[in-house]
Amino acid sequence: MAAVHVSGLHTAHSCTVAAQNNFAAEKARGRLSKTPCALSSSSSVSRGDWVWNSKSVKVESRKGLCSPVAAASSVSTASVGDAEHDGASSMEWLSPTSGNPMEEWLRRSEEREGDAWREECGVVAIFGDPEASRLCYLSLHALQHRGQEGAGIVTANENTLHAVTGMGLVSEVFNESKLKKLPGSSAIGHVRYATAGASVLKNVQPFVAGYRFGSLAVAHNGNLVNYSELRAKLEENGSIFNTSSDTEVILHLIAISKKRPFVARLVDACEQLEGAYSLVFLSEEKVVAVRDPHGFRPLVMGRKSNGAYVFASETCALDLIEAEYVREVQPGEMIVIDKNEGYSSSCLMPRVERKACIFEHIYFALPNSVVFGRSVYGSRYAYGQILAETAPVECDVVIAVPDSGVVAALGYADRAGVPFQQGLIRSHYVGRTFIEPSQKIRDFGVKLKLAPVAEVLKGKRVVVIDDSIVRGTTSIKIVRLLKEAGATEVHMRIASPPITGSCYYGVDTPSKEELISYRLNVEDTRKVLGANSLAFLPLERLRGMLGDEAPKFCDACFSGDYAVPPRDLTKLKEETMKPVQVIDEGFEGKIEATPEEALAAEQEALAAKKEASAGQAPAVVA
Ligand code: SF4
Repeated sequence: MAAVHVSGLHTAHSCTVAAQNNFAAEKARGRLSKTPCALSSSSSVSRGDWVWNSKSVKVESRKGLCSPVAAASSVSTASVGDAEHDGASSMEWLSPTSGNPMEEWLRRSEEREGDAWREECGVVAIFGDPEASRLCYLSLHALQHRGQEGAGIVTANENTLHAVTGMGLVSEVFNESKLKKLPGSSAIGHVRYATAGASVLKNVQPFVAGYRFGSLAVAHNGNLVNYSELRAKLEENGSIFNTSSDTEVILHLIAISKKRPFVARLVDACEQLEGAYSLVFLSEEKVVAVRDPHGFRPLVMGRKSNGAYVFASETCALDLIEAEYVREVQPGEMIVIDKNEGYSSSCLMPRVERKACIFEHIYFALPNSVVFGRSVYGSRYAYGQILAETAPVECDVVIAVPDSGVVAALGYADRAGVPFQQGLIRSHYVGRTFIEPSQKIRDFGVKLKLAPVAEVLKGKRVVVIDDSIVRGTTSIKIVRLLKEAGATEVHMRIASPPITGSCYYGVDTPSKEELISYRLNVEDTRKVLGANSLAFLPLERLRGMLGDEAPKFCDACFSGDYAVPPRDLTKLKEETMKPVQVIDEGFEGKIEATPEEALAAEQEALAAKKEASAGQAPAVVA
């Protein structure tokens, strides 16, 4: 096989060389039966812990060794750790309006995946605290609602980046011993829900790469709309990708940039990105926080009383670790905190109008957060009040679809002068998978999550508030649940305008053809849901509530006003999910490494052999 050159970004080859040498030692100890390699099948891989510096990488995983950017990962077809979709995706479908023309379409939607608009991701960065990894861990826990598929932390200590990533919740990925493997006073972290790229371990962030000037880690919240083009261009020029995530292109762009110094390289790379990105970077010396010029996704800055800097997607993360909120990272702003040069801020990108995602206030963010300078609780309460004004109805009780409908329901109840009651109880103990009983139970998936309270509902005219309707499949079940529990009337009020378009800026959405409000008007939607009445938050009232700031918010999924022209998301998804061609155990090619890397790998292999022959503990550590 011809030598492989990874343009600028030396990740793939250097880690592979080191990993293969580690393998020699591992094999000598009889711990492995399979060739580990950056290109090996991830079916042999689960979570990985690894240490990376510009010369070598050490990898530990539960079942095998692998490469760092793709640490414990290689193939988009991996089955280990793949997240499962929510909802009753295999449920039998029973339409409340049998024979309605939407029945077949709804059935197909139901079979495809659950009916939720998925959270995006959450990012955190800490600089200047000896407990950086622990603070990062706690902050990620506070941001868990933004992504539950995977989590990771990278720390910088003595010119080495240390990383732990894994599939699952923050509490599942990290424990005391994992945190001990993350020394250093600066750290970045990430919780992930896959908005671009498959749900496999290799796509769990932060990503780490080594290039000719050192090592760099990145964590990203958002979606790049020009990812396919950038990746195609980079691949044409010889870049090799380890993941199917759009974030990896950022590392490649930084690596090949001709600009100096380091910060100029970051700017150069970011200026080529289109779409949504709130990024945190970690190098041996620096933490950098950047927000895209439109500022689609949130990013805030805080300080601890000991002077440590904290960056996070939401203020709820600052609250948990007792950091004081300072301000937002401004759209298009790059903040650099350097060990030697301290704090600096620049705005080197072209200025465009801010387009903050209004859906953060509708659904994504926690109500106790302040996002884009506004209280999320205050926004949701106001949406409920507006609904009571614009769509009043005679009723006995106001209830919410928990949790995201609760605050709007309180606002509705307050303005309508009707008591708010807990008519639906949410189970907090539903795992990601649940075994369905052999005899089908209608609406099993929804019943697992939501239990109606007959005491509140029986014989009552009920107003039920939800945050949004996506495909409509869950709403149908909720209406049916309430009626079966004895509600005489069910009036549905939605604390957002009808969703008629997909999001291209970091939120996982179905294609617009799958959105019920794209296909049906409000009355026809009501009929399909089986509700006595249905009303949405009017878009003009939402904009009115935002006042002068309205043009600074993105509401494209309601209005179709996309600030950055969207690409074909369906196509993008198909491309990014395309199985990576894998060369498994038969790999015999030469992978080009720098002389330093080859030397480091040789030394490492030698040390490992010595250790193995001495019968000592394995050299693979994190
Ligand atoms: S399209 Fe919708 S979800 Fe996406 S950024 Fe705009 S408001 Fe947010």
